[in-house]
Amino acid sequence: MSSIQQNIEQITSQIKSAQQKCGRSPSSVQLLAVSKTKPVEAILEAALAGQLAFGENYVQEGVNKIRYFAEHHPQLDLEWHFIGPLQSNKTRLIAEHFDWMHTLDRAKIAQRLSEQRPAHKAPLQVLIQVNTSGETSKSGISEQALFPLAELISELPNLTLRGLMSIPENVADYAEQLVAFQRLADLQARLTERYPALDTLSMGMSGDMQAAIEAGSTMVRIGTAIFGQRDYPTSTKP
Ligand SMILES: *Cc1c(COP(=O)(O)O)cnc(C)c1O
Repeated sequence: MSSIQQNIEQITSQIKSAQQKCGRSPSSVQLLAVSKTKPVEAILEAALAGQLAFGENYVQEGVNKIRYFAEHHPQLDLEWHFIGPLQSNKTRLIAEHFDWMHTLDRAKIAQRLSEQRPAHKAPLQVLIQVNTSGETSKSGISEQALFPLAELISELPNLTLRGLMSIPENVADYAEQLVAFQRLADLQARLTERYPALDTLSMGMSGDMQAAIEAGSTMVRIGTAIFGQRDYPTSTKP
């Protein structure tokens, strides 16, 4: 068995026991494998182990991988999630290639993604990224600006709003992790009163997955714990 396959089995069982521990129903948390910086061979290993949803941070790197799998492994029905920060001049590639977008935080980008989504594709599934820690350096919309953006997205024909995403400050303390995730879960609950179809809360990474699941995450984004350390530092990405 490959180590990637072993890692996926281990994470899957950790997700399962975290769900059980806090009384959540089985299969209420989906695993998104974050494959940024990793070669297509590593993604193929994960896919052959049954992992079909992948997250990418860099537009061109992600598109290259999507094209590779469409050409060489069309029978694998992979699902591609864009989870990185997005410049407004790069929206077309996202709209044309990805299935999901987790980091939507501006009206202009929402409008462009909808305009640029090809007619033959299903609507782009989107999550609004919220800045729950209030640090100016982190991306994500403020809590006050959330409802107007959700309203705009709900009116765009080629986007489907599915929920919220956040990347809280990296802290080791479990109680602190939990507080940040609960803030996002509370916002999601309020937003769901207005948009009852929302079903996705994208929160939790390799270092804080347990707290995220306890707070109600439905999608954990796991990179290092599946694929090992990144192949190049994000600061020198291509
Ligand atoms: C890289 C990344 C992850 C995965 O992080 P790990 O700590 O390697 O699990 C999850 N979410 C986002 C937005 C990322 O950029």
